[in-house]
Amino acid sequence: MKEAGAILKHIESAQNIVITTHRAPDGDAVGSSMAMYYILKTLRKNSTVIFPDPPAAFLDWIIKDVDVLTYEEKPDEVVEAMNKADLIFCLDYSGPDRMGEHMGEVLGKCEGFKIMIDHHPNPHDFADIPVSMTRVGSTCELVYEFMDSAGIIGKLNQDIAEAIYLGIMTDTGSFRFSSVSARTHEILSNLHKTGIDHTAIHTNTFDNITLKSLRLRGYATSEKLEVIPHYHIAYISLTAEELERFHYQKGDTEGLVNIALAVENVMVAAFFSEKDGEIKISFRSKEDIAVNTFAAEVFDGGGHRNAAGGFSRLSMDETIKKFKENIPKYFSELSV
Ligand code: 5GP
Ligand code: MN
Repeated sequence: MKEAGAILKHIESAQNIVITTHRAPDGDAVGSSMAMYYILKTLRKNSTVIFPDPPAAFLDWIIKDVDVLTYEEKPDEVVEAMNKADLIFCLDYSGPDRMGEHMGEVLGKCEGFKIMIDHHPNPHDFADIPVSMTRVGSTCELVYEFMDSAGIIGKLNQDIAEAIYLGIMTDTGSFRFSSVSARTHEILSNLHKTGIDHTAIHTNTFDNITLKSLRLRGYATSEKLEVIPHYHIAYISLTAEELERFHYQKGDTEGLVNIALAVENVMVAAFFSEKDGEIKISFRSKEDIAVNTFAAEVFDGGGHRNAAGGFSRLSMDETIKKFKENIPKYFSELSV
């Protein structure tokens, strides 16, 4: 990573460092933020970790003894910390809009030096040092590359390694996506050598779901999974009322879209859920079928070729109607 030396210099001269990531932080967002926090600690730098909103409970274990500030819970403190910062890390997002409307504006207004480390396509021009590598499977892998290229890999410890492992694991579907390279495994090997408990990382993250979440998944797959055989497309939808019925909490529907994608012959899967007065949509695809263009053009979103998302302010029925109407235009290659 050619920018690593410059990044290290900025860290060394900074007084107030803030680490930020995107809205609805996932394993890679939380992992890269925690990893950077611990890296800065080894460089004797304190930092403030700021998320737009809290992550799902299944990621709580990695946050452990770090006080994370969220805009959702403490907006005034967040604005104050952002304005005071002379160095701001922007991890795992390619544009301020991914932080949500309000935090995106706060980021746009504050004057701190911004370093983006990210792997999403089409980065916006907002950072002073933008590191954008779209072929790499996770931001956590890039955080490791930063350490390596900056000559500080000797400072890799278990706290850093555990956080990086988490992000690589979640953003690669447990090391199976095409973004995984020989280098990814080499990095995992080096993380392993620090003595981290990789089984515990998997168990803490994936084998810790609540019974009501499992029941919700059962309902979603048995009652709400629809397949459009002609286009090899499957989708699941859950309204606010249905989520309420199963006492939905953040994270309870994590991975449902992958279950739809796992159906035989299905090449594209979508998951619609009604949250906070809008419909949040997740898209996944297999092989070289791209869902990010569809997500961007039809549902104001974006993302990677095989994992993208967007949203709709229409009703659930109208959103699904719009989805179906646009299938022939974007996925004609899938029709039988
Ligand atoms: P998920 O389905 O897990 O929420 O999101 C999958 C991927 O899609 C994310 O890693 C992100 O790249 C992208 N994504 C999800 N929602 C949005 C959105 O509203 N806007 C943009 N630009 N990308 C999104
Ligand atoms: Mn990521």
